[in-house]
Formats: sequence, structure tokens, C-alpha cells
Amino acid sequence: MISHISDAHIACITLGCAKNEVDTAHMQQRLRACGFSLTDDPENADAIIINTCSFIQSATEESLEAIFEAAGYENVNAGAPLIVTGCMPARYGDDLAQELTEACAFVPCSKEDDIAEVVAHALGVPLTTKEEMPQDEFALMSPGVFAYVKISDGCDRFCSYCTIPFIRGRYHSFTYEAISKEVSQLVKQGVKEIVLIAQDTGRWGSDFEQPLSLAWLVNKLAKAFPHTWFRVMYIQPEGITDELLEVVEQHSNVCSYFDIPLQHVEPALLKAMNRRGSYEEFIELINHIKERVSNVVLRTTLIAGFPGETEEQFENLCSFVEEGYFDYVGVFAYSREEGTKAYNLPDQIEEDEKNYRAQTLRDIADNVCALKVAERIGKTFEVLIEGSEEDGQLYGRAQCQAPEVDGVTYVDNGIPGEIIPVTIEDTLLYEMEGA
Ligand code: SF4
Repeated sequence: MISHISDAHIACITLGCAKNEVDTAHMQQRLRACGFSLTDDPENADAIIINTCSFIQSATEESLEAIFEAAGYENVNAGAPLIVTGCMPARYGDDLAQELTEACAFVPCSKEDDIAEVVAHALGVPLTTKEEMPQDEFALMSPGVFAYVKISDGCDRFCSYCTIPFIRGRYHSFTYEAISKEVSQLVKQGVKEIVLIAQDTGRWGSDFEQPLSLAWLVNKLAKAFPHTWFRVMYIQPEGITDELLEVVEQHSNVCSYFDIPLQHVEPALLKAMNRRGSYEEFIELINHIKERVSNVVLRTTLIAGFPGETEEQFENLCSFVEEGYFDYVGVFAYSREEGTKAYNLPDQIEEDEKNYRAQTLRDIADNVCALKVAERIGKTFEVLIEGSEEDGQLYGRAQCQAPEVDGVTYVDNGIPGEIIPVTIEDTLLYEMEGA
């Protein structure tokens, strides 16, 4: 029986992408500010928060598995409340409460600011009023050398296959003040690389009364934190402006790295996706970026098996990847999601065929991209040392390697958080090795 908030240890389990990790960190901040203790041991926690992902069916299934697993813990059976937050409650609303009796409360993304009240209520402990709460600064529980910072939430693009605008709501940028405060606290905690994320980073600031731009934001952050690396993920093709290219080229602490989700190269399919572009337009964009930014590294994501994708259209997509315009390519099989426009499109492709196409595209990407990574042998890169593997092997990442998706660089010496020059001696698929 918990009699006081400080006796309550709360565990958070996060599913899904980096954006969800940031949301969990914000909820933890609120809980800590209200006097709760945090633990990373859910089986001994007094309450468990499961921050779910639900943007595609497989993510929903993974979230459900995590909920069912937690529901089997002894502490939960003995009464520790299970609270489900994030995308699942946002996507499925009240239906979820009826279906998922394992959980005692559901908090959609838009209500996560109320997490402390929900947890206090579930535990039956009084909550200190917000006014009396210490204003804790944003701080990660266990910061590494890099951290994600969300610069906006929601999306207005309504790509026909995507549930995000329904889950996360309309696009809204966070203010520079809020973003820089968070960056500042993370830098104080020893974070050396800030990865700016959002559903649509390129639109940052366009919704302000006095509109601002992503280029403005990155320029200001790069100047304010000159010893910190900045990297921007998820810039839609329309978000690549000359102003942004100039800012990236100007600042050595802004990674010359663009993550541009293209999804496909066929105009008809892009139109059906409620997106724009074509093979030729994308090549033009890529050449433009390469002309303006030296040693630039490019990543994209593609969807295979979108409804109506013909063999020929798929082959064109394969050719595009084979041409090696991109250093890294993420491939997803189209996922048919209820509530989206694409769900009702004719000519849906069989699951096996979609998976076959996705795997074919992945194999092509692996072959092409591995060769591009191998071209780095003999070149010297600044490498941010991150830590070591279980066997003690030290590793870090160069600016050309985004965290968690592009592989790492193995090194012989260095201290976590240090940035050292490393000459690449060998590569294996996406991993690099050097001294
Ligand atoms: S831009 Fe991204 S988040 Fe927005 S609707 Fe399209 S796929 Fe979804």
C-alpha cells in the first residue's frame, strides 16, 4: 500500500520509434516533478506505464504483447496498476478500454501531460498541486552521448496510407525556447549529439504567427551549442530548401546528412499516396543537394507493394535504388491500415507478394549501400565515441551514421563522449572499423 508519492516507484516501457522515447522522457519528467520515483525494473514497480506504438498493425500487435506480458507480472497481479499511453489509446479510443481489461487507465498522446494525475489516481495517493511542484528541468533518466529532441508533433500531410495525422493530430511546432531549453539540459547532462525529430521536420515554424523555418532553427541551435552535433531526421522532399542546405554546409557541427522519405518514385503511385514527385524530380533534388553540400550523406525510406503497384513500377523503384543515389535505404512493405484512404484502394497486393517485394528491395539496397560504405575505407572521419559492446569492443559513430539505423564505427581507443579522428580500415555491410 502506497501512502505517499515518494514511495511509489514507476516503471515505463516504451514501444516504437524515437518520438515515443521522447514522449516517455517527458512523462518521466512530469512524474519526477510531482515526487514519484522512477525505476527501470517493471516487475518490481508500483505502477507500470506502457507507452505504445500503433501506426501500423504490426506495431499494435507488439504493443499488445508488451501489455499482456506486463499483465502477467506478479506485482501487477497483486494490484500494481498498468497504464497504457500513447498511440494505441489515441488510435482506438474508448474501444480499447472495453477490450483491454488488463489496463486500468488509458492516456492518449494528447493527454500525456496529465500522466502524474492519472498515476496518482490509479495508486490512490494524493497528488501535490501543480503550483507547489518543484519545476524540475528536462532530464533523461540515463542519458547516453546522443539524445532525440522533438521539434513538433502531429502532421497535416495526410499521406493516404498513414494513421499518424489521426493519432497525433494537426501539425504544431514547439517553440525555439522550449527546444533550446531541452537541448541545453541534455548538453549539461553530457549529451554530445542532438537528433532533431518530428513527423515532418521540414515544416518546423511554418505554423507560427510569425513564421520561422527549419533552417532558422538549425542555424540558431548550431550557433548556441557549438560543441554539440546536430542532425535532422525525417525531412520531406518539400522541406529541403536552399536556406537549409546553406546552413548545413556552413556549420561543421550540423551533420551533412539528410533523411528524406521518398516512399516511391512513380508519379501515379505517389499521387495515390497523396504525395508528390517522380523519379526525375527526385534525381534533380539529390543532385541539387550534392552540389550545395559537400560530402553529404543521404538516407531515404521506401514503401513496396502499395495498392496498384505494377511489376514495372516496382522494377523502376528497384532501378532507382540500384543507381546508388542514397547511402542508406529503409524499406517497408505497405501495411493496410483501417481508417486510411489507401485501405479502400483497389488492387491491394497479397501479403506474401508485398513482403517479397520489400525483401527484394532490401537486398538490392544492402548490396548497393554496402559498396558505398566501403568507399569510405582510407578516409578519416570525426567519430563520437558512444560506448562498448558486451565483449568490451569500443564503438562510436561518424557524422555519416545516424544513431540506431546506420551502423557504427568500431575503434580501439577513446572515451565515451569524446570526438576523435578515425581512419577507416575496413567495413562490413553498414559497420565501419578504424583507428
Ligand atoms: S508525412 Fe509522414 S507522418 Fe505525415 S502523413 Fe505522411 S507518412 Fe504520415
